[in-house]
Amino acid sequence: MDSAAAIVIGSGAFGASTAYHLARRGAKVILADQHALGSQTSPRAAGLTSKADRMPVMAQLRHEACEAFERFETEMGAGVDFHRSGSLKAAYTEAGEAHLHDGLETARGLGIEARLVSAREAQRLAPHFEPGLARAIGHVPSDGWLEPAKVATSFALRAAALGARLLPFTPVTGLLQADGKVQGVATARSEIYAPVVVDAAGAWAARVTAAAGITVPLVAVRHQLFITEPVPGVEPLQPIVRLLEASVYVRYAQGGLMFGGYEDHPRVLDASAFPPGFQIADLPLDLGVLRALADEVAGRFPVLRDARVAVHRGGAPTMTPDGRPILGRVPGLAGLFVASGCCVGGLSLSPAAGRALADLILDGVSEPDLTPLSVERFKGCYENPSALESACVGQYARKYTH
Ligand SMILES: Cc1cc2nc3c(=O)[nH]c(=O)nc-3n(C[C@H](O)[C@H](O)[C@H](O)COP(=O)(O)OP(=O)(O)OC[C@H]3O[C@@H](n4cnc5c(N)ncnc54)[C@H](O)[C@@H]3O)c2cc1C
Repeated sequence: MDSAAAIVIGSGAFGASTAYHLARRGAKVILADQHALGSQTSPRAAGLTSKADRMPVMAQLRHEACEAFERFETEMGAGVDFHRSGSLKAAYTEAGEAHLHDGLETARGLGIEARLVSAREAQRLAPHFEPGLARAIGHVPSDGWLEPAKVATSFALRAAALGARLLPFTPVTGLLQADGKVQGVATARSEIYAPVVVDAAGAWAARVTAAAGITVPLVAVRHQLFITEPVPGVEPLQPIVRLLEASVYVRYAQGGLMFGGYEDHPRVLDASAFPPGFQIADLPLDLGVLRALADEVAGRFPVLRDARVAVHRGGAPTMTPDGRPILGRVPGLAGLFVASGCCVGGLSLSPAAGRALADLILDGVSEPDLTPLSVERFKGCYENPSALESACVGQYARKYTH
């Protein structure tokens, strides 16, 4: 009989990191994925980190994760090309300015250097950025960016080196349960028994728990970015620039600039309607969405006007009604945990999210306490699918203003 101490469903950044941290602590883990390891939304991310979060538990996890990326190559044996470029965030309205101040203050409270800079200083740091009439610009020098492609696979391979079993091309078809406890999973080939199951199935996460009659309130949406052909003068260590009200981001990538953003009406993806075998690579993209956002901010990034697009990619991150991830136990089925609802920030959170979740699974507690991120915060709410969708889309639209 196939068995383990824990089965993790999904080898994206969340699942692979959780499996790695469980294996690192000596647990016998199985990491199953319906497709190739780490092949879905995770490798398509922008790879930005951001420490200035207004929620203390998130700021703490983001800080830990960013530090982990600095050590990634030593610990994982594979580089993710982390660049401590720093980041700038510009606000153009009174509300945006207050929001920016909150984030900087929370960061400073955790000992993270976070300061306001003048428009002139911002432009000196990022010469492709014309701040215009920004009311406030925040600078976090220890933020950075990384290449997303190897994050999840590196966690998975390192987990395997520590004894985890990797099961790519193994769709989990159901959760086994008895007496209110999870007993393992059913796959297309067999049943695997374990007292702990982690649902880290990304865009499919709600579908996995729904099969056991449990609702996890999240909605997958399409999110896209493009990378221009090389632009003279842009450098890897120039800071990431985020415009708060427009909710767009720009960073160095492959000699050019990466541009991505949060439109008002994203395409909502119904995972229960994905055809069998669907992969994120099959997701239709729409460059027009990004072009419209880029036109809105053309005055801030004049070089984008004429730059040609070299890469266009997108994926299916999951949004929650409050814009925060869901990490922790799933009430109603003892032994079931969830790591999802990445809210387009899961890649950069994954080293800390996986570490904290592994501690919660093995010790019953974690530092920081993940209770504020537990699915229980939505108890009794968002049972109506259209209310859920509208709350999640509301969090995605102009994301940096929430
Ligand atoms: C364009 C873009 C830009 C982004 N930029 C950033 C950024 O700058 N910073 C950041 O932190 N994040 C960013 N993100 C978000 C980031 O990509 C996600 O937060 C992260 O990839 C989430 O990882 P995941 O493990 O939840 O999902 P995934 O990587 O999709 O992994 C889920 C896995 O579960 C597997 N699975 C699903 N169902 C089953 C099943 N039944 N059985 C077995 N396996 C199953 C899937 O095959 C998949 O491999 C961006 C995303 C996009 C698309």
